[in-house]
Amino acid sequence: MSGIITGDQVASDLTLRPDVCIVGSGPGGAMVASRLARAGLSVVVLEEGGHFSKDDFDMQESTAYPRLYQDRGNRATADLSISVLQGRAVGGGTVVNWTTSYRTPEHVVQHWQKREGCAVTTKELAPHFDEVEQRLGVAKVELTDVNANNRTLYDGCTKLHWQVDTIKRNVRGCLRSGYCGMGCPVDAKQSAALTYLPDAIAGGASVYANCRVEKLEVSGGRVVAAIGVILDPKTQLPTGKLVRVEARTTVVSGGALNSPALLLRSGITQGPVGRFTWLHPVVGVSAVYEQRIDGFYGAPQSVASHHFAKRTEGAGFFLEAAPVHPMLSGIALGGFGGHLRANTRALAHVATTIALMIDGFDESEAGGAVTLRPDGGPKLDYPLGDRHYECFRAGMKAMVQLQLANGALEVDSLHTRGLKFTKEADLSQIDSGPMGPNRLAVFTAHQMGGCRMGADPKRSVVDPHLRHHAVQNLWVIDGSVFPTSLGVNPMESIYGISSWGAAQLLAALKSA
Ligand SMILES: Cc1cc2nc3c(=O)[nH]c(=O)nc-3n(C[C@H](O)[C@H](O)[C@H](O)COP(=O)(O)OP(=O)(O)OC[C@H]3O[C@@H](n4cnc5c(N)ncnc54)[C@H](O)[C@@H]3O)c2cc1C
Repeated sequence: MSGIITGDQVASDLTLRPDVCIVGSGPGGAMVASRLARAGLSVVVLEEGGHFSKDDFDMQESTAYPRLYQDRGNRATADLSISVLQGRAVGGGTVVNWTTSYRTPEHVVQHWQKREGCAVTTKELAPHFDEVEQRLGVAKVELTDVNANNRTLYDGCTKLHWQVDTIKRNVRGCLRSGYCGMGCPVDAKQSAALTYLPDAIAGGASVYANCRVEKLEVSGGRVVAAIGVILDPKTQLPTGKLVRVEARTTVVSGGALNSPALLLRSGITQGPVGRFTWLHPVVGVSAVYEQRIDGFYGAPQSVASHHFAKRTEGAGFFLEAAPVHPMLSGIALGGFGGHLRANTRALAHVATTIALMIDGFDESEAGGAVTLRPDGGPKLDYPLGDRHYECFRAGMKAMVQLQLANGALEVDSLHTRGLKFTKEADLSQIDSGPMGPNRLAVFTAHQMGGCRMGADPKRSVVDPHLRHHAVQNLWVIDGSVFPTSLGVNPMESIYGISSWGAAQLLAALKSA
């Protein structure tokens, strides 16, 4: 994409004075940039990650994680019990995500209105989602296009008469190579880097890659400047050059974890900043089949079941598939030496199903809390408790059941010492199996909250229109404003709510 300024192109310190400065270029930042630039405002986007195109995506996990993920792919909760997959590039998480596309469920929006006094409604969001789906080519997957890995989920649920369906994806001309998580090598995935950022640039926006905003300078209740350091695209280390952006309005779109961390670094501590962070915590199982599954090929996600989304026994969960690439599987399946070698050797015959816990809907839940690491990055604590373990057990039972019903030879849990299941009677092992931090693999690819929106400044960081409660010319527009998780994959919600948020911002600027 032309019009992107990379770290190696910045030869001296810069001072810029646009109408709007946007920190972060994921679906939140890219959307706001495109809407505001198209409305005639001068816009500068600052993105910490690098700028990559399809020619850079070599389909290697060893290249992709250090390059395209936060903390070089090693992000985790402070106690290391939850691995955090989160994108870091021009385009944010959309460069590496698996393209599953859902609108925000109506009951979630209603819950936000009722509990937090949020202004956004399903009716108001509808035209925004219509436009997003058009721009991103969102379309439902045909069952004939589902790979064998996802098909085990579809067939297992069908055999048990559980709700299941194919999902929608934001792709055009997908070759189903299976490498979404490493950057699409053929530009089929309609990431923000290929859609809303070029739209923003066409509207006159400037996008700086390799620019990490360290701090927002605040004076008299207003952001005076965003201070960024320029990074070397190769080493990702500071070059010594600084960028100072003195904008009339600043929008923080660094995503969950990073947006609250930036506010904290800047001393903007009003409200529960960093708290109420939600993760859709994920547990999984691997199922071994006699036939080849080749779960590394084909669309990584094409099927989902929401059969258990509204449980009364505890938190709901939904079921999806995860791709079976060697490095990710090595981490998930665990083990060392001979055990790891045997697991890896069997990989072509493995199907992976995941259960994503729907967190944040019960008043008792505190979720995660972001504070600062010594290096200024986000330190995430997300204590796991009884509500999580009850949900993980229920999720594991469902996944084992459906895989056995579908004819898997053996199903393995992702406990540190994996439990094995070959028949329904083995399910009781799950109740007595080890539970606790680092006793089973838990992941998240869906970080939300930490700067939640709401009417009460004591309970929220931004107001119902996404403007900061205390700092007048500061807005937060990304997944961090969600008051709860969603119960569906978050990307499309972030695009839709950010499009709506940009309209709120434009209206506020017009009336100022
Ligand atoms: C492997 C993977 C698979 C996924 N699959 C799906 C899926 O199939 N469907 C779905 O709906 N969701 C999926 N997601 C989640 C989805 O991609 C994210 O929820 C979404 O991208 C978050 O959008 P955001 O704008 O809030 O933040 P992000 O996309 O995280 O963008 C924020 C950007 O801001 C930058 N930034 C942060 N702080 C600073 C700073 N101080 N200075 C400058 N830049 C900064 C970051 O580098 C990042 O690029 C997946 C995520 C991952 C990692």
